[in-house]
Amino acid sequence: MITIDRHSGFCFGVIHAIQTAEEYLTTHDYLYCLGDIVHNGEEVARLTRLGLRIISRDDFAGLHDTTVLIRAHGEPPETYFMASQNRVHLIDATCPVVLHLQKRIKSQYENSGADSQILIYGKKGHAEVEGLIGQTGQKGIVISSDEDISLIDFSRPAALYAQTTMSVEKYAVLVQQISNLYARQNNESFFTHHDTICRLVANRSRQIKEFAQQHDTVIFVSGEKSSNGLYLYDICKKANPSSFFISKVEQVDLLPIVQENSNSIGICGATSTPMWLMQQVKKRLHLIFSYLRA
Ligand code: SF4
Repeated sequence: MITIDRHSGFCFGVIHAIQTAEEYLTTHDYLYCLGDIVHNGEEVARLTRLGLRIISRDDFAGLHDTTVLIRAHGEPPETYFMASQNRVHLIDATCPVVLHLQKRIKSQYENSGADSQILIYGKKGHAEVEGLIGQTGQKGIVISSDEDISLIDFSRPAALYAQTTMSVEKYAVLVQQISNLYARQNNESFFTHHDTICRLVANRSRQIKEFAQQHDTVIFVSGEKSSNGLYLYDICKKANPSSFFISKVEQVDLLPIVQENSNSIGICGATSTPMWLMQQVKKRLHLIFSYLRA
């Protein structure tokens, strides 16, 4: 039996961004998108065939009098400013959850004193983090590793927020570490923390672990660039050592399970894996098995 995990696939933020692009492209030849609309090469290739043109920040700076899509990760205020300067119309598909977080950080920045520090737990250089730090006039501190904790001044107040796709467990450890360091200076009350991790992603780790344990073999489908994909695959592999990572449908042919003809195969993926790709993997497996059984 071959089953696709019902929890895998795009979250609503990514679905909304893709649908927005598709809708626009039904009446226009092309649409620029600032950065990869989703970290999945197969889906980007499909949308590129429809007319989506992925551009870099440098490309964006050189555009005038055109239309650009802002993807689910969101953008810093500088992007909106540059667009208005260059008469670039923005179609804003920032995920509502990210937008809400941007507003909270902006409000915190504007309403706390100059003495206050804003900390963002996230990946340096990630588009969402750039958008969040942008709300603080670039004054916020990105905490990506333990070393970054030394950037905090424990004699001043600090408010911690998290990029929406970070690990809940690691965030809890970080909160404890920072709390302890404030406590050492008797400044516990200076530190506030806000768990802003998106539960759609956070719940996936538990769900995918359960799914992996329920099958003889697991095929995990994801783009190689997707950090969420690598993270979830790691959970799969630990829960079920007979788990395999693929990015393209054709890679199914090379998997050892195709020879062994497993009884129960589970197909799952990252938040950036399109459902159509997992369905194609399932189809390919059925086709191979029908030949093997013939
Ligand atoms: S993971 Fe959550 S916050 Fe991020 S785009 Fe998806 S729904 Fe939005």
